[in-house]
Amino acid sequence: MSESQTVPAQAQTNNKILNGKEVSQALLSELKAELAQLKASGAQTPKLVVILVGEDPASQVYTKRKAKVAKEIGMDSELLVLPKDTSQEDLLQEIAKQNNDPKVHAILIQLPLPKHLDESTILNAVLPSKDVDGFHPVNLGRLLSGDTPPALPCTPAGIMKILDFYNVPISGKHAVIIGRSTIVGKPMGLLLLNANATVTYCHSRTENLPAICAQADILVAAVGRPEMVTADYIKPNAVVIDVGINRIDVPETSKSKLVGDVNFDSASKNASLITPVPGGVGPMTIATLMANTLALYKATV
Ligand code: NAD
Repeated sequence: MSESQTVPAQAQTNNKILNGKEVSQALLSELKAELAQLKASGAQTPKLVVILVGEDPASQVYTKRKAKVAKEIGMDSELLVLPKDTSQEDLLQEIAKQNNDPKVHAILIQLPLPKHLDESTILNAVLPSKDVDGFHPVNLGRLLSGDTPPALPCTPAGIMKILDFYNVPISGKHAVIIGRSTIVGKPMGLLLLNANATVTYCHSRTENLPAICAQADILVAAVGRPEMVTADYIKPNAVVIDVGINRIDVPETSKSKLVGDVNFDSASKNASLITPVPGGVGPMTIATLMANTLALYKATV
């Protein structure tokens, strides 16, 4: 594990911490055991195909990490790297090939795609039954209707697993989500709503943001603004989930570090429980991707 992925020392000694690293390791151990059982029974091994178009450095890191975790738990995985000038037609053909391959159970299109490709056309081309990110309109529609498709969007589903692991009450509580992206904010609100929370969405046009956030029993920040959320956004004893991953320069050094959308030191003064960055939501996203692959596989047998 690189230093940048460890839970900050201060967070390790703070009993307010929702330790996503620990929760993800517990989940990955369960998955590893289940995959070993499948193998022992002679069944097919679940397979995840990750399609990366181009050379975006962050995407290269994320896709390699996904392949590494898959290998560690005994899941089949394949990383298909296509040139950055791949045409929409060629990418659609590749997706069709994977859709039709019975050995492939889960397909992930690494985002962002190069600008010349139409993201929604590409995501919609993945068969809903192999849509490991849960971004296909059929799967998002199922979520909207209160149903549970086998694969839910990985980051919000991972957050629900953290809340469950730490027995955080959700039903009847007021959850405020900052951010309305299709990847995080919107499905996060739906999952919390389906778990009987009262949900408020905030976004870049929201007025009186701190005052609305300060009404939350559960505050989820998925904004992409380094350390924007401070103590004044947080009701005493609220549960704070920090989705943000922002790289910032460390003043007076040539180094950089990862911070969330929440100012950890300030927010900790009011929060009863809080996810650190790194070591909070991030590790859960990949673990949930693996859980989703297995769930899609199980839906076929
Ligand atoms: P996005 O840019 O698609 O959406 C950001 C949202 O924040 C938008 O809905 C926007 O309306 C809102 N917003 C922007 N400025 C605001 C402001 N000043 N006040 C209130 N709302 C504001 O981003 P995203 O894909 O949802 O990601 C959000 C953050 O989460 C990023 O830092 C991203 O890196 C991180 N992320 C982390 C994981 C993980 O696994 N931990 C996964 C996905 C995204």
